[in-house]
Amino acid sequence: MSLRSSTTLLSTSVRLICSANNRIACSPSPPNGVTLTSTSEPRKTVVFNANRWAYFVGLTAKIDEEAKELNCQTRPVAFRKHVNDGYYDTLTSDVICVGIRKFYAPYGLCSDQLRPSKSRIALRLDVWAELMTLIPSIHAVFPALVKAKRCIVEESHVNQVGWLDCSSCFPFGKKHSY
Ligand SMILES: [Zn+2]
Repeated sequence: MSLRSSTTLLSTSVRLICSANNRIACSPSPPNGVTLTSTSEPRKTVVFNANRWAYFVGLTAKIDEEAKELNCQTRPVAFRKHVNDGYYDTLTSDVICVGIRKFYAPYGLCSDQLRPSKSRIALRLDVWAELMTLIPSIHAVFPALVKAKRCIVEESHVNQVGWLDCSSCFPFGKKHSY
């Protein structure tokens, strides 16, 4: 999708992109991130910093594959992938949507008792398809996101000790099953 086919509003303080049918809005999240908002449920938002965006974009092909399975219902779908900082992308046969949600470990509870936070978005499959076509426009408006790299490619992650020390990769500790 070209930039022209999406709705782009530029002003001095706000840069907002909307999908073709205005069902998803994207706004900047300083310094180099982006916030996705469901326009039908404006309180449902997910903030991506550059690192999480890089993980998310790297997973879109796999998520899309699972979304198509979910749509065809040819096999059970149970997809859950950590995209760092406690955010998970999820698709399950029970709920026909693509979920992106932040989880947290309540103070005093073990990391295997994670709770869902209010930072979330649930995209119906047709809205997910819209988001896929919107990504090039998001990159055109927020060029820093094109260069975003996953922390896993950083030098600090080359050895296992450095990788295990990353609080973005292991927000709930090293022993938690991600
Ligand atoms: Zn990391």
